[in-house]
Amino acid sequence: MSASASDCLFCRIVAGEIPATIVHSDDRTVAFRDINPQAPTHVLVVPREHHPNAAALAAEAPELLVEVMRAGAAVAEREGVAASGYRLLFNTGADAGQTVFHAHLHVIGGERLGGMAQVG
Ligand code: AMP
Ligand code: ZN
Repeated sequence: MSASASDCLFCRIVAGEIPATIVHSDDRTVAFRDINPQAPTHVLVVPREHHPNAAALAAEAPELLVEVMRAGAAVAEREGVAASGYRLLFNTGADAGQTVFHAHLHVIGGERLGGMAQVG
């Protein structure tokens, strides 16, 4: 857990200090609806533990990255987009437009998605 967690928006959502529409919660991950959805289904899956991005998560807790992916697939099933298809996306760094530096997996679907580099 990073010392910066108290300043982190998604740590605060995980802690219940900031409201969010939670769609999945287990002992290691939380998923909630994106506040500015880019498609009919747009959910963010985060590890409860603070890691600044997906690369750090992979390096520091690879088994937790697997849990995040597993939760993303469960959310896609629950949202009814598993059969029609969906996108799992990690933005990392400025060029990708990362704005929240707590690793989060976007689960996006519910319509035919645009070009892969145009999401958002
Ligand atoms: P990224 O650009 O990958 O860092 O994505 C950050 C995402 O967090 C964006 O899609 C935002 O719309 C979303 N977001 C920001 N604040 C909140 C919030 N309070 N609750 C839910 N989603 C949020
Ligand atoms: Zn955090």
